[in-house]
This record gives sequence, structure tokens and C-alpha cells, in this order.
Amino acid sequence: MNAPESFDNKEDVGHYINGKVILPPNSRFADVYNPAKGKAVRRVALASSKDVDEAVSVAQTAFESWSQTSPLRRARIMFKYLELLNRHRDELAAIITSEHGKVFTDAQGEVTRGIEIIEFATGIPELLKGDYTEQVSTDIDNWVMRQPLGVVAGITPFNFPVMVPMWMFPVAIACGNTFILKPSPTDPSASLLMARLFQEAGLPDGVLNVVQGDKEAVDALIENPNVKAVSFVGSTPIANYIYERCAHFGKRSQALGGAKNHMVIMPDADVDKAIDALVGAAYGSAGERCMAISVAVLVGDVADRIMPKLIERTKSLKVKNGLELDAEMGPIVTKIALDRITGYIESGIASGAKLLVDGRDLKVQGFEDGFFLGGTLFDSVTPDMKIYLEEIFGPVLSCIRVASFTEALNLVNSCEFGNGVSCFTSDGNIAREFARRIQVGMVGINVPIPVPMAWHGFGGWKKSLFGDMHAYGKEGVRFYTKQKSIMQRWPESIAKGAEFAMPTSK
Ligand code: NAD
Repeated sequence: MNAPESFDNKEDVGHYINGKVILPPNSRFADVYNPAKGKAVRRVALASSKDVDEAVSVAQTAFESWSQTSPLRRARIMFKYLELLNRHRDELAAIITSEHGKVFTDAQGEVTRGIEIIEFATGIPELLKGDYTEQVSTDIDNWVMRQPLGVVAGITPFNFPVMVPMWMFPVAIACGNTFILKPSPTDPSASLLMARLFQEAGLPDGVLNVVQGDKEAVDALIENPNVKAVSFVGSTPIANYIYERCAHFGKRSQALGGAKNHMVIMPDADVDKAIDALVGAAYGSAGERCMAISVAVLVGDVADRIMPKLIERTKSLKVKNGLELDAEMGPIVTKIALDRITGYIESGIASGAKLLVDGRDLKVQGFEDGFFLGGTLFDSVTPDMKIYLEEIFGPVLSCIRVASFTEALNLVNSCEFGNGVSCFTSDGNIAREFARRIQVGMVGINVPIPVPMAWHGFGGWKKSLFGDMHAYGKEGVRFYTKQKSIMQRWPESIAKGAEFAMPTSK
């Protein structure tokens, strides 16, 4: 594979409304950084509530005809979009790497996982089929269909600027809704390419709109009565806020929050494979994945067998500019995030955890101003420490030693987050009991990052998800549609005379 070209566009990033990029006069702006260089490279416009209302009104108008377009015609546009996205996969990945920092191969994987949702959405004619009962009562038929909601919105985090928006808008749009995406202002550029390619595939103007912005844009979306549902992915405090605000305005929401994911390693696990899995899941994407493993729960004597190799692997991670093809870990997304993570490392030391590998003060040649941090490893972490209790969202792995499987289960089940979890074992009964008894939404057995495939749906439990429907898959179709039930009979079969008793099946 050749080294990817870096994305060096210096133009301000605008909104995408009604099929056009818009930069309203007098906009507020935020800087967008290349984290490997540690430098602001462009600016992103921050929408005012007036800009948001304009986008919603455009989407409301587009809904009239898009909701009447047959599912098959919508699916054909999806097929064309799929083809274009596959052609532009590396361009999208290079944009991700230059604004987020994650390594290029990981960014390619992100785009592919997003594209899989489009593949799922191409099946919308089948997915929207309703249920029908002939002769539900004498001479009466009853059927149920699912109809689109109207204008729906998606508010997304910095850590998957392509995949997470694609968890939302392809399914919503395939269902016949029109969509407003509010991406993270940290890495906004990919959103414009995704929207432009959809338009090139034949999506009518106004069906997918992008408003760049911050809290002002988010609040305006929630408060606008024409926005019928909100999908959110981000940190737990904001997820909670979104869910409460949406409830206040009586609108449907699904708000996916933060995480603290454990990997339980049993004494019978294949130790070398477990170490490979742990290193990739803890330090891949610099730990900035909602499914990253941040706690290794080492059962019985497995800790002593794992630790020497784990230390060696953590020390030898290739931390570089993500565009270099042999890089294993890129920079942290922002200076603020870097300072937050180093603060957690200091807290871990102060609370008595054993710092085995310290990633601070790493300098990457040629990128001395970049926001780099090496892999960091703590042993002897206890459940009362801040580094265990809070989401760090960086390349910091905490190891906790426990005596038994039951102790490991209880530890994971006491955690306030419940996004992902993994168990490495070669014992079928342990695997079965783990999957049955664990209080977490997504479970991996010898799979470190169990992100469900497009047709299964993604969502955590506890403080990792506010709302009751998961993202994408059939849950996504349910979220973006409402059920209507129709009972029908024809005048020939209607008996004369008013009925005053509750009708029952005859
Ligand atoms: P964030 O919560 O800071 O931001 C998410 C979105 O909310 C962004 O679009 C942002 O502009 C907006 N926002 C931020 N502050 C706001 C406020 N006060 N009011 C209204 N809107 C606001 O999250 P982030 O730092 O971009 O992303 C990292 C977080 O996302 C981590 O906690 C991670 O675990 C979580 N995440 C969760 C999942 C999941 O599926 N559960 C997936 C990816 C990321």
C-alpha cells in the first residue's frame, strides 16, 4: 500500500444545506487541528440557532416528497452511494487521520464499518414490510405498517467522524426521513464529503443536511418542534442532558454515552492471543474508542504470566503520525484531551497504583508539537481509584487482579457503565455463564472489541445508553419509524345499527 496523501485543505468548513455548502456571514468559528502537528489547520463554522432553523425548514420541505418515494427507489440511491463511498474510502480515511489523528489503516477500517450500514440500508424494502392479518374478525382485516417520523437529527462525537454518523443517517433516510447531522467540531471535514457523495448518488437536495456547531446548534435542534427524533453519541453527561431535554420536548431520543470496558482474562485463556487482543483493544486509536478496553481483569495466576510480555508490548508500541503506514498509534485528538489524560496518570500514581509503563514526555521526531502520548500501563489498580471509576478515553490500561471468576463478574457488574466487555477463556461453560450473567450491552467471548455487525444493532446498558433502542440494525429501523395499525372492512359487511359495547372479535 502506498502512503496516503495528507488532507491539506485550508478552506473554512461550512454547513451543507439544501445540496450546497453554506458559510453564513457573521458566523462564529472554531479552529480545527491536525493533532500530529499540534497546529490549527482550518476553521469550522459554528451554526447559530437561525442557521439550524433554516436547515430544519429545508429538511421539512424535502420530507414531503422523500417520504413518498418508494423504498425501492430509495434503496437504488443507496446502492449508488455505496459504490461512490467504496471509491472514496481512502480519501475519507485520510481526512479522518488528519483531523482525528488515528492511524490510516484504522481510519480505513472505520470507513468500512460505516459502509456496512449502507449495505444494510439497501435492504430497506424488505425491512419496511409490515404485518397483516386477514380476517382478524369476521370480514375485517388488520395490518400494521411503519412510517417515517419527519425531520430527524444526529449529534455525533469526535472519535468516529464517519462511522458514527453512518450508524444514523443511512437508516433514517432509507426509512423515508430527512436528516440533519451535527458532527463534532473537532473533526468536521468528512461530513461534507459524505453529504456531497450522497447527493452525487442521486439523493434529492434537502434530504441530508449538515450543520456544523456546538451547544447552540444542539439546543436549537432539540427545541425545534419540527425535529421529531434525536440520535446522540458522545460522553455520558451530554447523553444524559440530551435525553432529558428531548423528554422535556416530548420527542424520541436515543443517547449513547461513555464507557469503561473490561477484559476478563481467565487462567485457562491462551495467554499470547489474549495479550495481542489486549494491546490492540487498549491502545488502538490511542484508546479513544467507546469500545476500547481500559481495564484488564486478571483472574488467578494469569497476571504473573501476562505482565512481563504486556510491559514489553506496551513499551514497544509504534507511536507516530497516523499517515505513516507502520504506525500503531497516532496522537491524542487535542491538547485539552492530552492534559486530561496525563491528569489521570498523575491521579493513578497518587492513589497508589503501580505505574509500569509511563507514556508521558514522548516526543515523535519531526512532530515535536504534536499531541502525543505513549501507551501507559498500571498494575494493582483497585476499584475505588479514580482511574478505575472514570472514563479516561486515552491509551491508559489499568490492570486489576482478582481471585476468581465470580469476583471478576461482580466487579464488572458493579461498574456504572455497561457498553462493551470481553472474556478470554478456553472453557465453554465459563464463556456461557459470562455471556448470560454479565450486565453489559455488548459482549465478546475471545473477541476484544465486540462491535456488532450492521444488521445486529449497537448499544450499551446502564450509563452507556439513555433510551431503549440501539443504533442501526432492526432497532434503527424501529427508532426512525412509527407504527400505524389499520383495521378495514367494506360497507357490504357492516351490520346495521350503532354498537355501544366494546367491539370484540367475532
Ligand atoms: P462529547 O459528549 O463532548 O460530544 C459529543 C457531541 O455533543 C458533539 O457533537 C459535541 O459538539 C456535542 N456537545 C458537546 N458538549 C455539549 C453540550 N454541553 N451541550 C450540547 N451538545 C454538546 O463527546 P466527544 O468528546 O466528542 O466523544 C467522546 C465520548 O463519546 C466518549 O465519552 C466516548 O465514550 C463516547 N462515545 C460513545 C459511543 C457509544 O456508542 N456509546 C461511541 C463513540 C463515542
